[in-house]
Amino acid sequence: MKAIHNFNAGPSALPKEVLREAQAQLLNFNHTGMSIMELSHRSKVYEEVHEQAKSLLKELMGISDKYEVLFLQGGASLQFSMVPLNLLTEGSVASYVLTGAWSEKAYEEASKIGETSIIASTKDSNYTTIPTDTTFNLPINSSYLHITSNNTIYGTQFHSYPETGQVPLIADMSSDILSKKINIDSFSLIYAGAQKNLGPAGVTVVILRKDLLPNIPASIPTTLNYNTHVKNNSLYNTPPTFAIYLLSLVLKWVKEHGGVEVIEERNNKKASLLYRSIDESDGFYIPHATKESRSNMNITFTLPTEKLTKEFLAKAVENGFIGLNGHRSIGGCRASIYNAVSYESCEAFSHFMSRFKKSNF
Ligand SMILES: *Cc1c(COP(=O)(O)O)cnc(C)c1O
Repeated sequence: MKAIHNFNAGPSALPKEVLREAQAQLLNFNHTGMSIMELSHRSKVYEEVHEQAKSLLKELMGISDKYEVLFLQGGASLQFSMVPLNLLTEGSVASYVLTGAWSEKAYEEASKIGETSIIASTKDSNYTTIPTDTTFNLPINSSYLHITSNNTIYGTQFHSYPETGQVPLIADMSSDILSKKINIDSFSLIYAGAQKNLGPAGVTVVILRKDLLPNIPASIPTTLNYNTHVKNNSLYNTPPTFAIYLLSLVLKWVKEHGGVEVIEERNNKKASLLYRSIDESDGFYIPHATKESRSNMNITFTLPTEKLTKEFLAKAVENGFIGLNGHRSIGGCRASIYNAVSYESCEAFSHFMSRFKKSNF
């Protein structure tokens, strides 16, 4: 089979080593004679996988015991509702920074639940940037400030985070979690669907500060209450065991590759390479994001005409470059270069970009 370079936005590439390991263990996990999928979620064997995923994530991200780590279902999208259900209490207001379609969705969900406020928005610039001034004047009765750390669709990313003082900072990190070193202590809650940087679709990671827990109203439905999942170690109901198993393998892979620092350095190199191809193309490739807001995960651009963009995408597929269509809402091209996408794939794509430009200029 011809080599494939997978630039899918999510679900996205998984490390080949991880898939091979899962394949080798598929029919007989850990001498049980069964697949991990067939084991009880209450069994000792599964429990070890569950704990390993949790402890590896804590270790790799530097998460202290002030935090709980949860494995939930319903995707990042359910967190759009769970965050306000649990934390937007009567008499307080939830503030949102709008930097793209995902933050709009998060804001809309919160608005169904309580009082919300848009503290900043870059919609007027067609979401080409992140707000440059992140010293926000938050209402004194703020329950939290919500940001989307990386805007998967528009290809922008926060490179520093707002200082919120006493107000809890909450981030949807679905598309850049574990891609770079962050200071966990700046955040009260982080959530991420696994299918971009962490593993397959089906599990959502939630990292939350323990001091949020006592104020969560007991009246909210049981499975939507963070306290339920904390008390039951994410085993209140059947967790997505296979997805959590793959998550544990991906985390092990990150650790074996030198941890988040090494991954971050590689991600920086990958992104620089592709942005250089754009910047040195004399306007042939037109970036969506402004320079200072560029994402290291999703590289968005168009070509001078709709026709050329289409030809480019078609030729890319012919050459084994998959998943480069921009999100259906904005079109154009998008190369998603999450942790599992190799430098070699980015290099091959960058060469393809030069070749395509030469033959069409
Ligand atoms: C992909 C994505 C989502 C949606 O995730 P689901 O798991 O499909 O609900 C939300 N936010 C961001 C930033 C994303 O990239």
